[in-house]
Amino acid sequence: MQIQTHPLISPAPGTQRELISIHYGQPAGERIGQKAYIQASLHADELPGMLVAHHLRKKLDVLQAAGRITGEVILVPMANPIGLSQQMLYMHMGRFETTTGENFNRHYPDQIEATAQAAESQLSQDADHNTRVLRRELKKAVAAAPVDTELQSLRRTLMSLSCDADIVLDLHCDAQAVMHLYTETPCWPECEVLARFIRSRVTLLAQESGDSPFDEACSQTWWKWAKRFEGQFPIKQACLSVTVELRGAADVEHALAEADAQNIIDFLIYRGLISGDKPALPEAVGDARPLAGSMPIKAPVAGALTFLREPGETVTAGDVLAHVIDPISNAVTELKSPVDGLFFARDFVRFAPAGMRVGKVAGLQALRTGKLLGA
Ligand SMILES: [Zn+2]
Repeated sequence: MQIQTHPLISPAPGTQRELISIHYGQPAGERIGQKAYIQASLHADELPGMLVAHHLRKKLDVLQAAGRITGEVILVPMANPIGLSQQMLYMHMGRFETTTGENFNRHYPDQIEATAQAAESQLSQDADHNTRVLRRELKKAVAAAPVDTELQSLRRTLMSLSCDADIVLDLHCDAQAVMHLYTETPCWPECEVLARFIRSRVTLLAQESGDSPFDEACSQTWWKWAKRFEGQFPIKQACLSVTVELRGAADVEHALAEADAQNIIDFLIYRGLISGDKPALPEAVGDARPLAGSMPIKAPVAGALTFLREPGETVTAGDVLAHVIDPISNAVTELKSPVDGLFFARDFVRFAPAGMRVGKVAGLQALRTGKLLGA
């Protein structure tokens, strides 16, 4: 096991933050084995992933000592040192950088065309060869991309660690939710296996949902190159990249995190990055649905919010999910599900300003258009 320190651009004289990555197994290079990259708490106030990383590290230490890690596994247990320091009036604000207002999980840089141009003369009819060439050129392009700010240097560091991985897991959480995943549609055949191991209730699929979140920045390179070189060179979808939503923000418990870490290890054994008896593929406990069918439940008026239904319940169109109560008029506004679906996530705040999105129901039909992710 090797620990690497990556200094970020200093935001002010006398201060400097750094990102720490922990490396197991065989360093990639022109590797034969696969590479997995796992990061936690890119939204710095989402802590379940950090506890999963703690348990993953204990398990990976044991596996490394036993010589069982045959691929490369990079673990970044705290992916956002900037957001970790953003405490305001005793509240942790880890989703947006307070300097720019930018979401830490958006605007990942795109080196797709630069890489394609650098790689083109080296590509052949051998898809595996093309994967190696594109990974090598992508890594160079990511490292060479100029950055001006601390936030940009964080994004570049995360991309340089992950961009050539076969498997990328970005560990997040919702406010109050059941286990669910986000991935790009071309990743679904491989993600379906992960969904079973991690016991995901729903996987939300989109292809380029907008504003380049981290997981899509890692996976979109491959299907975009496949399109660009269609009819010329074969390009595989060489990266399974997934945002793993580890239930709700307060679900930071050893029992859950230990089980989640073991499920991830079992998935890595199943995929062949760790040697040992291949675990049986678990039964699916959920399915995949279009992200464009994940319908927000909005409060049209302000008031005290109380939920009538729990995350994980199957609901039908018209079911009342919550009440917004105006204690001055004593009016009760019913918030209804617009579709049949899985009520998979809801907020934890209990005062709703007018217009607030208080929950999400995953339906089967793609009904929304435009940018599909929330703020
Ligand atoms: Zn998040």
